[in-house]
Amino acid sequence: MPTSESDRVPGRQPARFAVVDPATGETFDEAPDQQPDELDVVVDRAHRAWHGWRADPVVRTTALRVAANAVEAAGDDLARLLTREQGKPLAESHAEVARTAARLRYFADLAPRTRRITDGRPVHSEIRWRSLGPVAAIVPWNFPLQLAAAKFAPALVAGNTVVLKPSPFTPLATRLLGSVLATALPEDVLTVVTGREPLGARLASHPGIRHVTFTGSVPTGRAVAEAAAASLARVTLELGGNDAAVLLDDVEVDRIADRLFWAAFRNCGQVCMAVKRVYAPAQLHAEVVEALAQRAKTVAVGSGLNPETRLGPVNNAPQLARVEQVTKQALADGARAAAGGHRLDGPGYFFAPTILTDVPPGSPVVTKEQFGPVLPVLPYRSLDEAVDAANGTGFGLGGSVWGTDLDRAGAVADRLECGTAWINHHAELSLAQPFAGVKNSGVGVAGGPWGLYGNLRPFVVHRPQEA
Ligand code: NAD
Repeated sequence: MPTSESDRVPGRQPARFAVVDPATGETFDEAPDQQPDELDVVVDRAHRAWHGWRADPVVRTTALRVAANAVEAAGDDLARLLTREQGKPLAESHAEVARTAARLRYFADLAPRTRRITDGRPVHSEIRWRSLGPVAAIVPWNFPLQLAAAKFAPALVAGNTVVLKPSPFTPLATRLLGSVLATALPEDVLTVVTGREPLGARLASHPGIRHVTFTGSVPTGRAVAEAAAASLARVTLELGGNDAAVLLDDVEVDRIADRLFWAAFRNCGQVCMAVKRVYAPAQLHAEVVEALAQRAKTVAVGSGLNPETRLGPVNNAPQLARVEQVTKQALADGARAAAGGHRLDGPGYFFAPTILTDVPPGSPVVTKEQFGPVLPVLPYRSLDEAVDAANGTGFGLGGSVWGTDLDRAGAVADRLECGTAWINHHAELSLAQPFAGVKNSGVGVAGGPWGLYGNLRPFVVHRPQEA
């Protein structure tokens, strides 16, 4: 089943690039290295397919439901490939496949509401909703399938067609997903393209694209916004985070330690809205460090294919180098590793789960997004100091407050400058909620009906009032 234009052009031999298994550090497969000039044909076909696809919402709803079933039916193959190229434990890959199908089902049943405005004038206005055209979906390597679905499911049900570009670190499961979706969708309604830069840059600036929906780092998000400005395409950016967890003085450390640990270390810490900094009251700081360090020292780290594994490798060599660099810098700044603090010997991109204490607040492991299995735990003396520190970075994706008195915790959560705040947990999302970062963490809104309307434009008809 062809999933890209290069696969379809007879006689054209696409260049290919290596895909590495992060658990071994070895190449285990290749993917087509599509060239930017191929996008003209891909986007043109997406544009032609749009005319038929936008016509009938019932066809779209049915197709998305069929697609969800097809994804579940291919779940074993998708999950295994995802673990090979991404590194996460197989159980987490299965969960990601399930969330991919869930997104298709959720959006399949959403439809925009036509509204009528009557405001005393002799006409009324009817607000209808129209699709935009071909949408470019560009996604990172940490959750390739579910982040892609969070983009293509609302875009498709709205009547748009989609060109989906995964990260070159994780192209294979997305290509397989494209093949699976092709069994449920008309031709060219969703096309997966794979390749190294400047493929993404060219896609973001392509004049035939009407909405660029991007998830990734802040610097690339800026480049995408600049590129899309060329054609004035709509831009939705879901960018990095540096979420703080603020522990209150009535927190029961034993009760929350597991949840807090996994809120930071799930997917090896490679989660945009992972807990990336913990602020603990000074009198509880040692107990919190000890509880987290004990878990970091004993968690099973290894290949995601091993059923015992709870933490896999870092996804790729440049990311491992960033995690190592930021940790070394913290240690040089005077921090102490209560657990980990170094790469693990042997093949693969493994980094020991790391809990840092005595970290100077200005160290990059606190001020930047480390995006790996490293967590600084910082003491505070007053709640105002903790809230100021939590809000004191350029990011604003999420944040959490942990304590026994829920009203008090809720009042502190209210003071966090972020898009989503949690009490006594972190990073749980509902499909029906809006998801948006503030400050450098994003532009636009994804999730729920807001994600649907982000893929539509209003079309207003004024007509005389009925006599
Ligand atoms: P990245 O910005 O390096 O890459 C993201 C995607 O953009 C990849 O597909 C990449 O190939 C592509 N790309 C690279 N250069 C491009 C360019 N000039 N123009 C267009 N596309 C380009 O990010 P990453 O390292 O793959 O992912 C990690 C980052 O993603 C972290 O910062 C993380 O916080 C963020 N993230 C955010 C969310 C969210 O919802 N806010 C979710 C997951 C990850």
